[in-house]
Amino acid sequence: MLKKGIKLNFAISLLVVFTVFSTTLINWYLSYQDLKNTLTENHLENNYRYAKKVSLNTNVLLDDIQHNLSTLAEIISHQEFNQIDLDNWRTGNSGYYNSLFTTDANGVVQLMSPQVIPNNKSGVQPGTKIKSKLMEQALKNKKPFISNPYLANTGNLIVLISYPIFDDEGVYKGVIDGTIYLESNNSLKRLINHHEFLDDSSVFVVDRSGTIIYHPDPSRINESIADHPLVQNIMKGKSGSAQIINNRGTEYFSGYAFVENTGWGIIAQTPTSVIDEPLRILTQKTILQSLPHLIVVLVFGWIISSHITSPINKLARFSEEAILSNKDTKSIRLLEMRAYIYEVRQLLKHIQAHFQVLTNQANQDGLTGLANRRAFDQDIQKLIDQQVPFSLILADIDHFKEVNDVHGHLVGDDVLRFLASLMLDVTRGEDLCYRYGGEEFAIIIKEKNEEEAFALAERLRINVSETPCPIGTAIHISLGIASYHKKDQLPEMVIKRADSALYQSKHNGRNRTTIYQS
Ligand code: GH3
Ligand code: MG
Ligand code: MG
Repeated sequence: MLKKGIKLNFAISLLVVFTVFSTTLINWYLSYQDLKNTLTENHLENNYRYAKKVSLNTNVLLDDIQHNLSTLAEIISHQEFNQIDLDNWRTGNSGYYNSLFTTDANGVVQLMSPQVIPNNKSGVQPGTKIKSKLMEQALKNKKPFISNPYLANTGNLIVLISYPIFDDEGVYKGVIDGTIYLESNNSLKRLINHHEFLDDSSVFVVDRSGTIIYHPDPSRINESIADHPLVQNIMKGKSGSAQIINNRGTEYFSGYAFVENTGWGIIAQTPTSVIDEPLRILTQKTILQSLPHLIVVLVFGWIISSHITSPINKLARFSEEAILSNKDTKSIRLLEMRAYIYEVRQLLKHIQAHFQVLTNQANQDGLTGLANRRAFDQDIQKLIDQQVPFSLILADIDHFKEVNDVHGHLVGDDVLRFLASLMLDVTRGEDLCYRYGGEEFAIIIKEKNEEEAFALAERLRINVSETPCPIGTAIHISLGIASYHKKDQLPEMVIKRADSALYQSKHNGRNRTTIYQS
């Protein structure tokens, strides 16, 4: 098959298949990338916005809490404030604080609400001096501040919000402190922890040192992830979004925002696996949608390519068979076909012309240019098949061997050509002249009887015998005539009779014409 070459139809079909598949593949790839990019951007954008919103709300809430404490500090510095007042204040602002307490300028607790703290392992109660670093800082700073979350003795992760108290003369009187237990029920926890995501998105919070202080998975609280590039960005005060892999190897679309007044970072994240499903659906849809199109294109492609290639294929097969069987060139006539393509038309035209030349050559005698024996056989068979009446003249040169012997073969050839041209001279266009064998010639005269043939034969014989040929003098020929009978089935029957008549001429002394007599 390789030696013969690949069939054009196969090559075109292959091209169609390749084109269709590659187009579909490229389409799918582009839509896939497009959807992937869009989903990625959407998730990053949404998570960034969400983190930003939570961060702003956290800021507002902490501002409110600080403002609330400043009002309380103002009240305490101006009027008598007792346990009941403090309890009322705490319950009136329920949700802001888990506890409230005041200290004097030395850090000794004055009032506490609630007065009795359940599981109070710290032992703090009115009259005790708080010795923690945080308290020292609060007393020394004499300024409002929000602490980093810290793990209290109670086991609670606590944020301390502190506000200084000054009297009218500006004398420092101590602090009012509010605590927020990050894991207990309060406004801050509700704000940060309450999300209604439809997918696997989540929010967590890190403090300014990169430690997780809020996380939907409680086991991760207090874990430090300060080494993560995203957290390092937050610690630099940046907000933004990024596709990241977390410390546990899961990939996320993350949006992050910095909380101004605490230095915390809010991170809203969605596992990147959420886009797998829509991408899978897209792939499935692409395959299902392009399948009918694919089939239609393949079928049409195949039909069109068959139309293009079948004439070329026919031409190729024809040439192949012609070469293989050295076929009778008559079959070129069978190669009638419609070709609409320029190249095919030209090929067809040229092949037909070429075969015409070959046909002519095959039926022509190379020496004299007359039709040859092969043409003679074909023509006579055709006349018999069509039952066209005709007469046959056979002519043979007398003593031609001597011509060759005396003058050589080349001169002999010239003599043959000379005789051929004389034959053409004495016959009319519709008479058919042949070189029948070596120095034997034949003439077929259609629609003529023996007498009319005899006249022509004699004209030729006399002409030959009176015209000097290439040997310098004239030569002679003997002729025999026979006519086609309706009962003749085969060409041989007529030929045999003509030959017999010719033999008679030779026998009777040569240089004469004999009509066959039964
Ligand atoms: P006859 O009168 O009985 O016909 O005598 P002849 O010598 O012509 O005898 P014959 O017909 O048997 O001889 C045929 C000769 O024609 C033999 C051969 O040398 C010669 N001949 C046949 N073909 C060619 C040819 O193509 N060229 C040449 N120069 N001679 C040829
Ligand atoms: Mg002879
Ligand atoms: Mg002869």
